[in-house]
Amino acid sequence: MNRIPVGILGATGTVGQRFVQLLDDHPWFQVTALAASDRSVGQRYADACHWLLPTPIPDAARDLVVQPIEPGLECRVVFSALPSGVAGPVEERFARAGHAVCSNAAAHRMDADVPLLIPEVNPDHTALIGEQRRRRGWQGLVVTSANCSTTQLALALKPLHDAFGLRRLSVVTMQAASGAGYPGVPALDLLDNLVPYIGGEEEKVEQEPLKLLGTLEGDRVASAAFVVSAQCNRVPVRDGHTECVSIEFARQPGADEVIAALEGFRGPAEAADLPGSPAHPIVVRREPDRPQPVRDRDAGRGMSVVVGRVRPCPVLHTRFVLLGHNTVRGAAGGSIHNAELLVAQGWVA
Ligand code: NAP
Repeated sequence: MNRIPVGILGATGTVGQRFVQLLDDHPWFQVTALAASDRSVGQRYADACHWLLPTPIPDAARDLVVQPIEPGLECRVVFSALPSGVAGPVEERFARAGHAVCSNAAAHRMDADVPLLIPEVNPDHTALIGEQRRRRGWQGLVVTSANCSTTQLALALKPLHDAFGLRRLSVVTMQAASGAGYPGVPALDLLDNLVPYIGGEEEKVEQEPLKLLGTLEGDRVASAAFVVSAQCNRVPVRDGHTECVSIEFARQPGADEVIAALEGFRGPAEAADLPGSPAHPIVVRREPDRPQPVRDRDAGRGMSVVVGRVRPCPVLHTRFVLLGHNTVRGAAGGSIHNAELLVAQGWVA
């Protein structure tokens, strides 16, 4: 198959670089356009970008000249890794011009006609694209990935909601420095420290799971009916968000039932064969001191969520710790996975 030409908006940033890395040698997609701010436009990618990843800049990207974030880029799919304040109107312009936009930014996540998507969780929500095109007159489309903490949380919640019914849950996050972009939080604020506030994050973690686990009803998604309380912290970890979760269910399960539901989860068949799908979307560890960012964030090439310490909760019903790679499953890897789903479903040819 001829690979589909794709572009990256915000290609020089933390998430943009992860896109460039993950798309190198992708079986379906080929990076043909890189775009960023005026600071970078006109420079070779290798010169414009302060490369942060341990693998070298892919040869195919190194000499591409960074372009402005305007339609006209030579590509059918556009991955957006722009700051949310910039992304909204730019993504709309690309969709109007016929591109399929797969966004990491928050700008359109909660729009009623924009799918907030995780292939193993809610692949049927792409049906909103029909309504989106009717309402907005677009030839292209916009789908979004959830906030990085939400994505891994929603993956773990999906089989539990299906099996036992979520009523309410509390989540305390310990989020990696790379989640703040580059240069992000100043070193002197984070080394030997923890910052118990991430602007806007708790609202996202409380709202986005309800849309992700909501039910498609005609041309809208009816939100799931559980309640989330989130407390979000920035910690001096490079990559990998850890979350402590306590849940009350409609039907209280035993810890062994929770583990079986998590381990047995594969997601719908249409998600299972995508290039980015890990064999096990959720990996359960039995050791008392796992998951840990350094040891577990690369599980399933960074696309698996790792859950450990599953045990009864004396306040609610069940508690556990989960971990996911924030720039892979929580950002670029998740968006590429969404684009693969769009191709598999025929939305992108
Ligand atoms: P970042 O490291 O700050 O990178 C921002 C990128 O956007 C850079 O390429 C920058 O280009 C470009 N940019 C900034 N202002 C621009 C403007 N006015 N016009 C055009 N380009 C502009 O940020 P990030 O962490 O990669 O985050 C990108 C997006 O992904 C954000 O919406 C974020 O919320 C979301 N996200 C991030 C994570 C994560 O783990 N980091 C996870 C999920 C979602 P220059 O280099 O040229 O300035």
